[in-house]
Amino acid sequence: MRNNIPNIPYPVNEDVKNYEPNSSDKELVLQAYKEFYNDNIDIPMWINGQDVYTDNKKDITPPHDHKHIVGSFSLAEKSHVDLAIESALKAREKWAAMPWQSRVAIFLKAADLIATRYRYKINAATMVGQSKNIYQAEIDAACEFIDFLRFNAYYVQEIYSQQPDSSDGVWNQINYRPLEGFVYAISPFNFTAIAGNLPASAAIMGNVVVWKPSDYQIYSTKIIIDIFKEAGLPDGVINAVYGDPEMITSTVLDHPSFAGLHFTGSTFVFKDLWKKIGTQIDKYKTYPKIVGETGGKDFIIAHPTANPEEVATGIIRAGFEYQGQKCSAASRIYLPESIANVVLDKVAKEVKEMKMGSPENFENFITAVIHRNAFDRLKNVIEEAKKSDEVEILVGGTYDDSKGYFVSPTVLVTSNPKYTTMETELFGPIVTVYVYKDNEWENTLKLVDSTSIYALTGAVFSGCRYAAIEATNALENAAGNFYINDKPTGAVVGQQPFGGARASGTNDKAGSIQNLMRWISPRLIKETFTPPKDYKYPFLG
Ligand code: NAD
Repeated sequence: MRNNIPNIPYPVNEDVKNYEPNSSDKELVLQAYKEFYNDNIDIPMWINGQDVYTDNKKDITPPHDHKHIVGSFSLAEKSHVDLAIESALKAREKWAAMPWQSRVAIFLKAADLIATRYRYKINAATMVGQSKNIYQAEIDAACEFIDFLRFNAYYVQEIYSQQPDSSDGVWNQINYRPLEGFVYAISPFNFTAIAGNLPASAAIMGNVVVWKPSDYQIYSTKIIIDIFKEAGLPDGVINAVYGDPEMITSTVLDHPSFAGLHFTGSTFVFKDLWKKIGTQIDKYKTYPKIVGETGGKDFIIAHPTANPEEVATGIIRAGFEYQGQKCSAASRIYLPESIANVVLDKVAKEVKEMKMGSPENFENFITAVIHRNAFDRLKNVIEEAKKSDEVEILVGGTYDDSKGYFVSPTVLVTSNPKYTTMETELFGPIVTVYVYKDNEWENTLKLVDSTSIYALTGAVFSGCRYAAIEATNALENAAGNFYINDKPTGAVVGQQPFGGARASGTNDKAGSIQNLMRWISPRLIKETFTPPKDYKYPFLG
């Protein structure tokens, strides 16, 4: 019998490895990369702890080499989704009752497996399947995922420790029940860590999950599942189904035990899901919790007192790392006239130096964008910009899909602050700059606040503290993560909890207590030690 009150190890962010030339880390991750690249893997779904294969399959091709097949994955029929739901509900009986320290231990073990045996594999799968360079893979698939798991484990204990006061003769307790039903997790292509965290954060709170990852992240999904299996996650706690998002979603949302949606992806898909849940609300046993982290149109605004080199570096890193395919990627930039030329000269010079190609070559800063649709969308944006008399292409503006979906990092300078690329999420390596007159600082802050429907991330660069304060106040609702003299990407779990408002999401801050709180339904238990034996209150005389 375990009757200790445990102390969950205090989490520390995982150190990022450098993969410098001639290092054994570089050699080992490249070895895993080559193995995956030259393999032809058949990836099953994962239902009730079983590998489930179907005849209906979809090929996996690296975005940087789209004619090269590295494997395929099985696509679900409706019956598989039904089975996933039933398996989850069956697993719930034991999982919700499992001592919480055992539940937490499984995910702490998963974190350790990623940090050790699976590190190169999960990074290599992310490089092959999602075309991340090694650094982007390491900070996401290894480090952020480990951090999510370790910090979540710690926060579980913090949540369970929050207990109400009790007056004399009474003992009040809250027990933090998982939701009554199952959680549906839908994850995007661009972060392996998010894909793993969406089901895991609900599961660590005692929930069972049906998980639908993106078709463009299935290679690393397979590694995540291998890790959960080896960590000892019981059968049916998380069930992964792949394929037609509409069929899978309508099957899930039809079920009366649907109790929560944990979504990360685009705004319009999320809004559609919210509407569907709303119209079916009478079906459900309980009001479903809806958590969604969605799109962004993230900004950098520089004050005339900003350091031009720091601004330029912020633009380059936030705009072009992972080809701008981060929800936090800076894509609209506001520069004062007095420093604009110096900033843009540095940006143009350094962007021209960037190498683009396969992630296998560690000299490449830029690799491919995720798929044909993304490539075509970005190509159209560039072609429209070329035709517009409101836009000048400072650097980039080329693309090539002969081998992979390559779009060169592109900087547009526009005279129209409401030009479409200042407002619309592009999700690619295209940054648009608007140059404002130095004496228009206050109006430009209003412009930043009112230009887009999103409010995910934003940054101000300023050498003047008053101006930084002014921007922080004026842009209070324009970003859920706001940065002063730093780029608006690269949030670290436990340090900069991540999420946005307005059309960017419900702002439940991934990797934080706020997020975990969404996956529980507290039950208050009041116990009275000496209950009264007479109904009459003293005032009755
Ligand atoms: P997406 O919206 O195309 O897909 C996300 C998931 O939704 C995928 O699993 C997809 O299959 C599924 N989906 C698509 N259509 C659906 C439908 N009709 N019903 C149910 N599910 C459906 O997004 P993506 O291209 O994978 O990812 C990029 C988007 O995600 C960007 O908009 C980005 O800003 C956003 N994102 C946001 C955050 C954040 O924390 N705010 C983090 C990562 C990505």
